Amino acid sequence: MTSKFQLFIHGVCREGSEGQSVDVINPATGLAIGKVAYASPTDIEEVVHLAEQGLRSWSAVPPWERGRILKDAAARLRADIDRIAEVITREQGKPLAEAHIEIDRSADFLEWGGEQARRIAGRIVPGRRPGQHIEIQPHPIGIVAAFTPWNFSMALAAKKFAGALAAGCPIICKPSQETPGSVLELAKALVAAGVHPAAVAVIFGDANRVSTQLIESPSVAKITFTGSIPIGKRLAAAAGAAMKPVTMELGGHAPVIVCGDVDPEATAELLAKAKFMNAGQICLCPSRFFVEASIADRFTARFAELARAWKVGDGMDPETEMGPLANERRVEAIDRLVEDARQRGTTILAGGHKVGNQGYFYAPTVLTNVPAEAAILHEEPFGPVAPILPFSDEAAMLAEANGLEFGLSSYVFTHDGERQRRLIDALHYGVVGVNGGLTHQPEAPLGGWKESGIDTEGGIEILDPYTITKHVNLQ
Ligand code: NAD
Repeated sequence: MTSKFQLFIHGVCREGSEGQSVDVINPATGLAIGKVAYASPTDIEEVVHLAEQGLRSWSAVPPWERGRILKDAAARLRADIDRIAEVITREQGKPLAEAHIEIDRSADFLEWGGEQARRIAGRIVPGRRPGQHIEIQPHPIGIVAAFTPWNFSMALAAKKFAGALAAGCPIICKPSQETPGSVLELAKALVAAGVHPAAVAVIFGDANRVSTQLIESPSVAKITFTGSIPIGKRLAAAAGAAMKPVTMELGGHAPVIVCGDVDPEATAELLAKAKFMNAGQICLCPSRFFVEASIADRFTARFAELARAWKVGDGMDPETEMGPLANERRVEAIDRLVEDARQRGTTILAGGHKVGNQGYFYAPTVLTNVPAEAAILHEEPFGPVAPILPFSDEAAMLAEANGLEFGLSSYVFTHDGERQRRLIDALHYGVVGVNGGLTHQPEAPLGGWKESGIDTEGGIEILDPYTITKHVNLQ
């Protein structure tokens, strides 16, 4: 069965005006599941023109009603979760159970944005003189251009749709052309629930061409991107040249500090699940395992044993614990990092190779004796590879943990309250997970420090990236 993934413009699915399209590949088989339509420059001009109308119409809908509509869209996603989960698994590869979690989380974001829409309010600041009156008014910032990736193609887009639409802004989304179906499902649910059709568009196309046209368009007011640091820098530079604000959710290389007082086997079990979820293609995913020397052998042995037994297969099979990587590029990138480590003398305790002869599978991989200069300790792996690094000097370990340009997520495992506090305070990261894994819940803001990003998404601040302030000073 093949599918047509078309542009979604003004509530209607259609081909691009130049008829261009590319294959969409199921990463479990390496075979095409359909074609995705590319938008031409003329289509994009039309989309921006429609969004100008969308701004007038959607921003005029009372925030209370916008909130109701977003919550209705969330209910539509939940009601259709089994069908949509298959769309996600077929195009992205993750096991169906994880696709269910993703849809649920996407709906949570829409509900949270809808609730926060109902709390939009300005404030009055007392004047200095009799008769002076200062109003602080929040306004929708304008048309939002959103660029979203393939790893959590629905949830990462849902965060942006929730904030932008709740604030009263139209949103034009260019998802990854590798996972088009999930964002199309999201956009269709929003329009079916009552979002003005001119306020939502999903377009595909050559990423450079589409992003350049949208960022340079005088009608587009805000740029939001989730993806890699190099592309984030490129988009932020282009937005800066046009003096447009950006929200950037970029990569990470999360240190995990496992202290000697925890149960090494139980912690290995918890962290193996966090590491191999979505085949390690998670920006928050633990990726440098600093384990105190006193328990390092036991932790490593259990982690490697689990990795060797992990069930890798097609995400459509309910027995599968880890699906394929999302595309061939990821397999090549992981293979390059593992080969580099191997050539530098690293011990490979589990995995270290591709799996099967169809699709993009890579075995859960555990590395020890990794030399400091190995590329995997400096480049974000974004795949199912766990380098384990025993430590005995806490200060030296922290210098290493904080020593990269990344600052997204980090983890601490210890029951010693004083040590917990000291490590939390010492980590230069936007998120610290203590004694557990991490996911992004809408009620908490999430964003990276250093090169991992600009701004946050979620939390009571979810509308802030899409809101602009007018200060009215009445005499
Ligand atoms: P990539 O750098 O080529 O692309 C990353 C994302 O940006 C993709 O979704 C892509 O479609 C999009 N993109 C690329 N060029 C763009 C442009 N000019 N304008 C707008 N969007 C553009 O890398 P990749 O091979 O697709 O992904 C691997 C890397 O991406 C990983 O190493 C990881 O760091 C990063 N990544 C991060 C996240 C995250 O959640 N922060 C998600 C996906 C990928």
